[in-house]
Amino acid sequence: MKIEQLDIPTSVIEFLKIQGYVSLYQPQEKTVKAGLLEGKNILVSAPTASGKTLIAILAIIKNLSEKRGKIVYLSPLKALASEKFNEFKKLTSIDLGKNVKIQISTGDFDVSDRNLGNNDILVLTNEKMDSIIRQGAEWVDEISLVIADEVHLLGDDDRGPTLEIVLTKLKLLPSKPQILALSATVTNADEIADWLECKLVHSEWRPVPLFEGVYDQGIVTMQDNKTFEIKTSIRGPPVDLGLDSLKNGGQAILFAETRARSVALATKASEAVSKILQNEEKEQLAETSQKILDDNEHTDLVKTLAGLIKNGVAFHHAGLNPNCRDVVESEFRNKRIKILASTPTLAAGVNLPARRVVISNVTRYDAKYGANKPISILEYKQLCGRAGRPQYDKYGEAIIVSNSNGEEIFDYYINGTPEPILSKLTGDKALRIHLLSFVSTSPGIKGEDIIDFFSKTLSGSQERKSTMKFHIQISLRYLESEGLVQQKGNRYIATDFGKKTSTLYIDPLTAVLFKKSLEKISTSGHTLGLLHLITSSEDFFPKFSLRNKDYEYIGTLIENHADELIEHISEYDCNRSLLALRAWIDESNEISLSDNYGIESGDMHRMVETSDWLIHALYEIAKLERKDSLLPELDVLRSRILYGIKEELIDLVRIKGIGRIRARLLFKNGIKTTADLASIPVEKLAKMDKIGPVIAENIKTHLKKIR
Ligand code: ADP
Repeated sequence: MKIEQLDIPTSVIEFLKIQGYVSLYQPQEKTVKAGLLEGKNILVSAPTASGKTLIAILAIIKNLSEKRGKIVYLSPLKALASEKFNEFKKLTSIDLGKNVKIQISTGDFDVSDRNLGNNDILVLTNEKMDSIIRQGAEWVDEISLVIADEVHLLGDDDRGPTLEIVLTKLKLLPSKPQILALSATVTNADEIADWLECKLVHSEWRPVPLFEGVYDQGIVTMQDNKTFEIKTSIRGPPVDLGLDSLKNGGQAILFAETRARSVALATKASEAVSKILQNEEKEQLAETSQKILDDNEHTDLVKTLAGLIKNGVAFHHAGLNPNCRDVVESEFRNKRIKILASTPTLAAGVNLPARRVVISNVTRYDAKYGANKPISILEYKQLCGRAGRPQYDKYGEAIIVSNSNGEEIFDYYINGTPEPILSKLTGDKALRIHLLSFVSTSPGIKGEDIIDFFSKTLSGSQERKSTMKFHIQISLRYLESEGLVQQKGNRYIATDFGKKTSTLYIDPLTAVLFKKSLEKISTSGHTLGLLHLITSSEDFFPKFSLRNKDYEYIGTLIENHADELIEHISEYDCNRSLLALRAWIDESNEISLSDNYGIESGDMHRMVETSDWLIHALYEIAKLERKDSLLPELDVLRSRILYGIKEELIDLVRIKGIGRIRARLLFKNGIKTTADLASIPVEKLAKMDKIGPVIAENIKTHLKKIR
């Protein structure tokens, strides 16, 4: 089907042509024929790169041109949300007879952004949508189109339940919005479609064909029974397979089971890849490598990355900070990085395909079981989805490296059917969180209406009603016993504490822990105790467990700061994240965090983000519990965590452009407050280390604004 044949305004057709679209891909055509442009609810279950974004665009445009109402696009991941935001932003240039406004919002769950409702298109994470519904934003009733991306994540232990609840609530809205759900190919897509009241468009079509295979002792056997040999070397099969695919401009992603392995694989590939680089590529990569060194503290990880990038290889894992990750992703996209070794996080996130994907190991360490476990077929298929770059490759290949068990692996993964998506909503954690939020937003709800609502979830359609009822009763009893919910007759109402917990977007378990701990404090001076409280709460993420050598560190810390504790704790009650966070607010640099505690800049970044949210929640609960005397200390601690500074620098970091490093340098030079900054001449400020004329000028301008 040609773009011109679509029932959309001519200005849109022109726009799509300029974007390079001529005709629809097969799944796109099927979706249009299923009634996408007539407002039908549709679940598209199709492989990665089969063009689901254009399907979303067509639905958006149709909705906008008919001025039906607000559009929300929901993503499970922030990175994906921002990718789509950039894509959809282009639509605002089309003349649709009105000024189309678009906004992205993915952070700060309990901040009610009043201006959000002024937009036509909202790009949100599932959690943000959930939080907006909890806060009772009125514009939710004006939603006319919901685009839910990656809905196969409904089965994910962590992120699935929120997506499930959000979709249940949205489909029950009186405005009955159109639902467009986008999913990878899943076995029970029909069941998910039935639940969502969607028509199912299922497709196995790919823009570049995918061939799957297994490597076993020097031989790769592909799906079509073709075999080929791989010359083995001391670099090992995953790297040899990667190198083999680089002919004629190919690239490879090597999936590794751990961070350390991803670094090791990239390192092993480095020398061989450097030999095939063109001179121009080498020069550009050298510049990129230098930029990484200029922009980041020189931890071992950063130095290793910079060294590898020079040779056209890189690794990608959660230890890298966002700056390094962006560089790696963009150098891979522009094809200068030839081999990328990555932990599986990359498969779920950004769109980064390669001609060959090598799965170096199909087992993963599972902390719950304390042992390695085989990955699911669904996860394997997700990894395969990265194979084949549409613009550059005629085909994509996904090859599993087996451990002399090639036949079994082949049969299980390649011939296997992905596991069906199963709801995780009745897990203890998910249920207490979502029950509280539901009761909070439906004051006075009857017991049977709670059951009725939950029976409309996916779980309600997959589980026996009696099982669901049983789980709900247990959870309600817990919420009641902890004072989050009250029962009057057969009706339920959330207490102020319960409502606060729900809008703060924290687990009731965290809220109860915070409340009980706050009751034990009456004076200030509890820095270590508060950090322990945050890092040991259910919501803290990421938690790193103690290594043998950390026990001594933590023992000393507890001993030296015993007077700051809220209650007695031992080393066994602590984790490594507490050590790192404590060092961070004492201005430890990234090198020492990495060397001493094995905490990388990307980890610290995420810890700061979660701590900021949790300390804010703690502040709000303290306020509710009338612990006003603790508020200033919590305020100070929040700034210290956000910037990684001692208390004496708080005034200086208020100025834009002054972070922990510049603030400390200024302080050492006798400039200790914003008043000192205001009184120093701009020329003198410019001469200071790490300042310069531009920053000095910016500091002065910002000072004028805030004083
Ligand atoms: P998915 O969301 O299914 O993973 P995308 O929507 O990202 O896939 O599409 C993958 C690539 O295919 C993108 O680069 C996109 O521009 C391109 N593409 C999608 N539809 C078409 C089409 N009809 N014609 C040409 N290119 C297309």
